[in-house]
Amino acid sequence: MSRRIDLPVLVDGVVAADRASVARAITLVESSRADDAALAARLLDAVQDRTGTAVRVGISGVPGVGKSTFIDELGTQLTQGGSKVAVLAVDPSSVRSGGSVLGDKTRMERLAASDSAFIRPSPSAGTLGGVARSTRAAMMVVEAAGFDVVLVETVGVGQSEVAVASMVDTFLLLALARTGDQLQGIKKGILELVDVIAVNKADDDHAAEARKAARELSSALHLLSHGDESVWRVPVLTCSGLTGTGVPEVWQAVLDHRAHLVETGGLERQRGEQQVEWMLETVQDRLITQFNRRPGVVAALPDLRERVRAGELSPLAAAEELLSRR
Ligand code: GDP
Repeated sequence: MSRRIDLPVLVDGVVAADRASVARAITLVESSRADDAALAARLLDAVQDRTGTAVRVGISGVPGVGKSTFIDELGTQLTQGGSKVAVLAVDPSSVRSGGSVLGDKTRMERLAASDSAFIRPSPSAGTLGGVARSTRAAMMVVEAAGFDVVLVETVGVGQSEVAVASMVDTFLLLALARTGDQLQGIKKGILELVDVIAVNKADDDHAAEARKAARELSSALHLLSHGDESVWRVPVLTCSGLTGTGVPEVWQAVLDHRAHLVETGGLERQRGEQQVEWMLETVQDRLITQFNRRPGVVAALPDLRERVRAGELSPLAAAEELLSRR
C-alpha cells in the first residue's frame, strides 16, 4: 500500500482527526510488508509527540461475560461526558481463523454511532505477538488523533492478556458471580496482571449474588497481598453493563488506579518499560521474519524437518545447519 501513501498528508489527516486518515494510518501500521514497516515507523515518529496523554485501559473477561455490552455502555457514558473514546482489540482467535470478533462495531452499536468514538476490530493477520504490536501502533495513531481514552479489549485466554497488559496503564477484568471458590474461575496468572475487577451482570435477581461474590473475591485477594501501603489494592466492584449501574464507579476505580500510578512514579516507569519491550519485540519479530524468508532456509527446511522427525538428525544439529544458511 505504501506507493499510494503521501506521508505528510496522512500525518496531517491523523492529527486533524480525519476518520478516513486514522483508518488508513492504522492499516499502514498493521501491514506486514517490509516496505510498509519503514513508512509506518516514520508515521509513528512524526506523531510521537502527540501521543501519551490518553488513559489506556485493557478490558478482559471470558466470552459471554459482557465485554462488548460493558464497553458500549462505558464508552457511551464517557463520550457523553465529553471524552473521545477509541476501542481497539487483541483477539487471539482471529490469528487462527482470520476473522475477528472483538472490537466489532455491530457489537457496540450505540458507541459506533457516536462521532466521539472510533472502534477498530482486532488485526487478524500474523502471530499473536504481531497482532499485539499492531494494536500498540494503532494506539499511537488514535492518541495522535486526539482520543483521550483508549480501551483495548481482549478475551480471558492467557497470552493475549499478557500482551494487552503490556500496552495499557490499567487492566480491568470483568468476572461473573459463581458459587464456590471465586478464585478458581480466574486463572492465577491473570490475577497478577489485574488492577481492577468488576463482577458484571449485577442486575435483577443476580445483584445480591454478585455483591456476595465480589466481597468473597475481595477478601480472598487481599489475603494474598502483603499490606504494604504503596502497593495498589485491587478493588472488586459490581456493575451491570446492560443497565449501566455501577459502571461510573468502575471507571472511577480505573482513574484511581491511574492516579496511584502517577503518584508513585509508576506510570512513567511502566510506560518506559513498555516502549523498550515494544522495541525489542519488534526486532525479534523482524529477525524471525527475515530468517524465515532466507532462500537457503526455505530450501533446506523441508528435508531437515523430515530428518529431525525421523530421528536421523538431532534438533540442535539441524538448528545449527539452518542458522548457517543464507
Ligand atoms: P462478550 O462476549 O464478553 O462481549 O459478551 P456480550 O457483551 O456479547 O454479552 C453476552 C451476553 O450477556 C449477551 O446476551 C448480553 O445481552 C448479556 N449481557 C451482557 N451484559 C449484561 C449485563 O450486565 N447483565 C445481563 N443480565 N446480561 C448481560
